[in-house]
Amino acid sequence: MTTNAAAYTKGLHELGDGCFAYLQPDGGWGWSNAGLVVGDGVSLLVDTLFDLQLTREMLDSMRSAVGNAPIGTVVNTHANGDHCYGNQLVSDAEIIASEKAAHEMREVPPSMLAALNSAPGELGDLFRGFFGAFHFDGIEQTLPTRTFVGRLDIEVGGRAIELIEVGPAHTAGDVIAYVPDAKTVYTGDILFIGGTPIVWAGPLSNWIAACDLMLGMDIETVVPGHGPLTDKTGVVQVRDYLAFVQTEATARFHAGMDAWDAARDIALDGFGELGEAGRISVNVDTVYRTLDPNHISPDVVEQFKRMAALDARH
Ligand SMILES: [Zn+2]
Repeated sequence: MTTNAAAYTKGLHELGDGCFAYLQPDGGWGWSNAGLVVGDGVSLLVDTLFDLQLTREMLDSMRSAVGNAPIGTVVNTHANGDHCYGNQLVSDAEIIASEKAAHEMREVPPSMLAALNSAPGELGDLFRGFFGAFHFDGIEQTLPTRTFVGRLDIEVGGRAIELIEVGPAHTAGDVIAYVPDAKTVYTGDILFIGGTPIVWAGPLSNWIAACDLMLGMDIETVVPGHGPLTDKTGVVQVRDYLAFVQTEATARFHAGMDAWDAARDIALDGFGELGEAGRISVNVDTVYRTLDPNHISPDVVEQFKRMAALDARH
């Protein structure tokens, strides 16, 4: 079967060499991608989805691809719920994440999102505006059973898979999963395609380095954490955005401008056409925090308020 990188439709896409991508358009808030690598007698799942309903639907769609090679290993690329809240449905498998990602998962359990999504008034309205399509009630948080630092080489049904920790960048413990025999990489949220990358943790230089690492790898197929399938051109696009924000925010920091003013001041030009352009406010704040360890970032509610305000402008 051939890869059709142009087809951005919901569901399982065969990439060749026993590799698959599960895509969820439009790739906006919570609409994440996942991956499947089928080996001899056992398979690897890269990420679960944001809630149990979505994860169940995905696992059902993978049944014939998996065949008699059941999912024995799961990798969570990072701690955001849209990549791990479905773990409960694969709890028989070994679940691998970086040590930092596993730690960060404990800080934002599904019950927290459930509470925000059902909060009354303005706070609830704000979060429902981002996450109202998802169902967090009754999810039992299921944490990784194996963690690592730096790099972990695993074997899945005779296939070598390289798990490479490239964070802190998007989050504290981002990992990419590289399948050398298929020249394929599953990047988690180190790549947003068609949408704006969001740098919760940073520094941006780490994320740029992660892009450079991928650009130096022998890869033909790139499965981003959000958005359509891509290749190295997608890696370049994300790198360009991050370098742009780094330069623009740093100049405003040195000019003494407040971080929130800077986020509103930066003209995004072509980058403004990406989805979720309001994420610039979080990204600028992360640059400021990197430049000044004493910089105090707004709390998460204020961060989402700022993004909503900027999104409304675009
Ligand atoms: Zn995500």
